[in-house]
Amino acid sequence: MTTQQLMKVELSSDCECRFCTDCALIQEESECNDCGKETSFVDYCDGDCYLYKVEELEDYIIPQFMTANGDPSYLRLEGRRMGWQARSGYKVIEATYTALRDSLIFSGEWRLVFTLSGKDLTITRYSHDEPMGATFTLTPATEEDYNA
Ligand SMILES: [Zn+2]
Ligand SMILES: [Zn+2]
Repeated sequence: MTTQQLMKVELSSDCECRFCTDCALIQEESECNDCGKETSFVDYCDGDCYLYKVEELEDYIIPQFMTANGDPSYLRLEGRRMGWQARSGYKVIEATYTALRDSLIFSGEWRLVFTLSGKDLTITRYSHDEPMGATFTLTPATEEDYNA
């Protein structure tokens, strides 16, 4: 994989694992990656899908984003179309996966799509109040921004 490649990871408060019975392949596509047949939701999931994706974010996507942006200690998280009032706003957070996650999720149902393209990380959040998706972008910030 090169750094220019588009990386996408989707996290959700619900498991989205689907299964193709013909290929015995677990995936998230409604049409099988391999044979194109319709897949169905798995009957049972132990949540590994979620852990696996968190790992991919924590170990690969976030570090790659940080490196591409000069390893900042703080990040400015800018949101658009947030909540039912479709508000805009920003927040300066510590540059860690945990701080980022805690700024984006809430109790209830949600889905987060992380897309890394070159040095840009975009996050789209879908929830009950955000059916069209709220969009978040990240840019490096300084300690002064954080303490401001
Ligand atoms: Zn699952
Ligand atoms: Zn298949």
